[in-house]
Amino acid sequence: MGVDSPVRQLAHRTGSGESTGGSWSTYALYPIPVTRPEAGRVVEVLVCGECGAEVACAVTGAAGVRRLRLWWRGLATVPGAFAVVLVVPVAGAQSSGQAVAFAVLGVALLPVLAFGVHLALRRARDEDGLRLVRGDGIHSLRPAGSTSDFSATLEA
Ligand SMILES: [Zn+2]
Repeated sequence: MGVDSPVRQLAHRTGSGESTGGSWSTYALYPIPVTRPEAGRVVEVLVCGECGAEVACAVTGAAGVRRLRLWWRGLATVPGAFAVVLVVPVAGAQSSGQAVAFAVLGVALLPVLAFGVHLALRRARDEDGLRLVRGDGIHSLRPAGSTSDFSATLEA
């Protein structure tokens, strides 16, 4: 994937509330017409198409975006390395009971490790080198087409 165009858009939260089982938000999205510097980082002022507010956005240059994507891909190897670390005690266990305990722990952690790899690779794919300079609770950066979200509330 090229690094010329931002992946995400400027989002203005247009609504939020509670419903059965969680909370929801809706967003209006606006493309970010910035020119990415070849190197370094510049701050561009975006004008929100919803409310007209000026929102400062740091734009990382093409080389920096490639480095950030590489960093996320490297981070994705950490859960794999952790899985290998879990296998070593199984092989070196003093008793079959210990080996079973380490194996059960490893299998139990497998979904968590796989989810960690998934998240890091997704961040690598979606990294566009954009960051809002200051959060205001209303504006954010979201993928194109991502006009709503829902957060489930866990029952205690
Ligand atoms: Zn706005």
